[in-house]
Amino acid sequence: MKVVLRNLTKKFPSRDKKNKKDVVAVDNFDFEIPDGKLIGLLGPSGCGKSTTLNLISGLEKPTDGQIFFGEDDVTRLAPEHRGIGLVFQNYALYPHLTVKQNILFPLENLKGKEKLSKGEMLEKAMEAAKLVQIDELMERKPGELSGGQQQRVAIARALVKRPRVLLLDEPLSNLDARLRLQTREEIKRIQKETGITTIFVTHDQEEAMSISDIIVVMKDGAVQQIGRPQEVYDNPANLFVAKFLGTPPINVFEGQVRDGRLYLGPDAVLPVRGAVQGAVYAGIRPEGFLLRKDGAFCCNLNGVEVMGRDISVVFAHKASLSPTIRAIVGAENLAEISADAGQVRFDLKPDKVILFDKKTGERIRVDMKA
Ligand code: ADP
Ligand code: MG
Repeated sequence: MKVVLRNLTKKFPSRDKKNKKDVVAVDNFDFEIPDGKLIGLLGPSGCGKSTTLNLISGLEKPTDGQIFFGEDDVTRLAPEHRGIGLVFQNYALYPHLTVKQNILFPLENLKGKEKLSKGEMLEKAMEAAKLVQIDELMERKPGELSGGQQQRVAIARALVKRPRVLLLDEPLSNLDARLRLQTREEIKRIQKETGITTIFVTHDQEEAMSISDIIVVMKDGAVQQIGRPQEVYDNPANLFVAKFLGTPPINVFEGQVRDGRLYLGPDAVLPVRGAVQGAVYAGIRPEGFLLRKDGAFCCNLNGVEVMGRDISVVFAHKASLSPTIRAIVGAENLAEISADAGQVRFDLKPDKVILFDKKTGERIRVDMKA
């Protein structure tokens, strides 16, 4: 089921006595979520992710705009009539009911011609339980399950009515690191198997990147960029997106474009073709540095961290906005680092260097190939 947001806005009255301006939690969202895909809503805490999800589920009413499921305008429809499945961070299971009873619960409330026989209900509950691989645990209570198992029960409960749209709000945040990885792969598999359009909210960029077909990056209630994870990582629309995606994060420098070259401090690091002149921010991804004894970019070496397959080179440069810069290079390059005079030199990969307008933070598109 395709989900369409049209000029969707949600304002909350200010709670701040001094600043009476409304909080715009969702500012004029206008995009389509394609049928059968997994979409990640990604952004820092307070950027409006949950509000967006609550508008789609109907738990919140929009201040303005419309929501469509396929061709149906669901804007005024109550949540229980939208055909959605919801999963929250804290599982929200009924502690006194067994796993089976928890999964059956949404089916038992069906009325009129949707009403199912006991046998049909059990069949559907079992099917949902099998899908998330908890069919062995049906007689247990939530208190007798691990966090990961509880979240699977919550997902089974959300799926049992075969929702048109599955909505997950930070579903992995309460799990420990290993379970988080495992459960996110599970969610991806379940989504593929069922083909249900799924909207997944997270503040964790790695999680969003790894699980989503498409990510929507948000900040202060406004969409910053929509695209495939790799596309957004490679071609961020602005400095905020560039900094939000990637670990280690992008390294940002004060740059100058003069006579068709990009300068970082005194070092002319790359040729630049395009309508740009003067001061810019230059972002360099950690994988954008090539260790070269005669490289153009001359830095002060702080240290080397060996991580097995890769090494992390930590260094400093006076044009850098932060005191340390981090480059990730293959471990086979370790020999290229000579400790003499504490210096290290790099050439830069042009497609890993991204320029931004210093005032607006918007991406400046240029050609930096030699
Ligand atoms: P996120 O889920 O991305 O952390 P939220 O959607 O919860 O963000 O919140 C977005 C903004 O809207 C925040 O500034 C938050 O304080 C505000 N907000 C959310 N819900 C309410 C509410 N019921 N009343 C007032 N302000 C709210
Ligand atoms: Mg939230």
